Amino acid sequence: MSDHTSKLIDGKAIAAEIREEIAKTIASRLERGLPRPGLATVLVGEDPASQVYVRMKRKMCEELGIESFGQTLPPDISQADLEKVVADLNADPRVNGILVQLPLPKHLDEERVLNAISIYKDVDGFHPINIGRLAQKGRKPTFVPCTPYGCMILLEKAGAKFEGANAVVLGRSNIVGMPAALLLIERNATVTVCHSRTKNLPDVVRSADILIAAVGRAEMVRGDWIKPGALVIDVGTNQIPDPTKKSGNRLVGDVCFDEAKEVAGAITPVPGGVGPMTIAMLMQNTLKAAEMADQQ
Ligand code: NAP
Repeated sequence: MSDHTSKLIDGKAIAAEIREEIAKTIASRLERGLPRPGLATVLVGEDPASQVYVRMKRKMCEELGIESFGQTLPPDISQADLEKVVADLNADPRVNGILVQLPLPKHLDEERVLNAISIYKDVDGFHPINIGRLAQKGRKPTFVPCTPYGCMILLEKAGAKFEGANAVVLGRSNIVGMPAALLLIERNATVTVCHSRTKNLPDVVRSADILIAAVGRAEMVRGDWIKPGALVIDVGTNQIPDPTKKSGNRLVGDVCFDEAKEVAGAITPVPGGVGPMTIAMLMQNTLKAAEMADQQ
């Protein structure tokens, strides 16, 4: 290992600590006679990756004492029927959070479905009011989208100095890149958002004290793109062929970890970085929704 070898930002361990706190808070709620928080996960169709994600979320609920309301709906469900499911969940007092697993099948209008979720149950943070508040100065969203929220906690744990830092976000998706950029701006970083039409990407990335990579391109960011000492959060989850594995595949991020770790100040691994944080933040948001419901 060289002198430049960076510190690992251990998302798996940090997420475990957050989950432990959540489990304790839920146990104390129950002792005080308060109800279990409830999370409804709505899965439409049979997309294998979505099935895995939803299963993980339901299992995590069980582990932490959150009541899980699973809805698995047929792939050809109509828009009206799906919106009815959401409306019923909005009205169900046992349900504090509603998560509609994305992407939805092509015939469904995602925007209308997300609009239909009560903002008090929008634990994914994708409702336009929540995103709008995130984008407005002095406003606070009720819920922050889970993946970017997790990225910010990882950066805090790695000792990020946000104020005045040059932050580069690779990707401008609604669920990761854009909200991550907004969160960094809120913390007074100077933020550059890159996307598929960005010119001279390596040079832009070289200016980053803080880098969040969410493009979905296996190991696109090379070690010589990284500013020495930069904090690197790798959101990407990409399967690449690996004949040494039983499955024939291996999961890698958007950053070439082996190269970047020699230069960065600290870096998240894939797997074991952002992934576990996303689920932990979903559980955190569900607990927050239950605490808000207690006040009503
Ligand atoms: P997405 O919706 O496909 O967005 C990808 C973004 O990257 C777009 O803004 C796109 O630009 C940009 N992009 C694509 N190719 C590029 C290139 N060659 N150079 C520069 N920018 C490029 O993806 P997403 O949903 O944000 O997810 C991104 C990655 O994170 C995926 O690997 C996904 O699996 C992973 N992810 C992980 C978690 C987790 O919990 N670990 C959660 C969510 C997502 P345009 O806008 O110009 O098309």
